[in-house]
Amino acid sequence: MKVARVHEKITRCREDFCHKLSRNLVDENQVIVVENLAVNNLVRNSKLAKSISDAGWGQFLTMLKYKAEWEGKTYIEVDRFFPSSKTCHHCLYQVDSLPLEIRNWECPSCGTQHDRDINAARNIRNEGLRSLQVRNFEVSSKCKTHSRQAAGRVAAASGQRVRPAKGTAFSSIAG
Ligand SMILES: [Zn+2]
Repeated sequence: MKVARVHEKITRCREDFCHKLSRNLVDENQVIVVENLAVNNLVRNSKLAKSISDAGWGQFLTMLKYKAEWEGKTYIEVDRFFPSSKTCHHCLYQVDSLPLEIRNWECPSCGTQHDRDINAARNIRNEGLRSLQVRNFEVSSKCKTHSRQAAGRVAAASGQRVRPAKGTAFSSIAG
């Protein structure tokens, strides 16, 4: 009984942490790109990653996603098979393997010094922005043939959704 209660308390606290973190991320960024990776591959040394993985990475992403969509911002998931760690963000050279314990490495092609996590984060960001451009391009190509219909899709693809006006059912749920 006691254990269950303590556990519940901890869970609530972490959930609260995830809510705050996702809120801050959404408030401070127009576009959010995440890697939908297996949690075990997440940076074992990072305190942040630890707190998130305990609460559930998937749960955290769900919070991020709905908060971003609610605010009319763009949320993008990069596929987990995208080699974000092994690719040099500078010259795009890809090393064969990069064991988890290696935190810093030098690109054998261009000589850039990498912090493993920062390099991976840059690659994820770049990949997310690239896929966003592709999406927008595809939508704008369709636009020429079905102009009226596509106009709505352009708005959705760039994440610029129309926010509900005050006083609608939406805002009363949010409040
Ligand atoms: Zn390089």
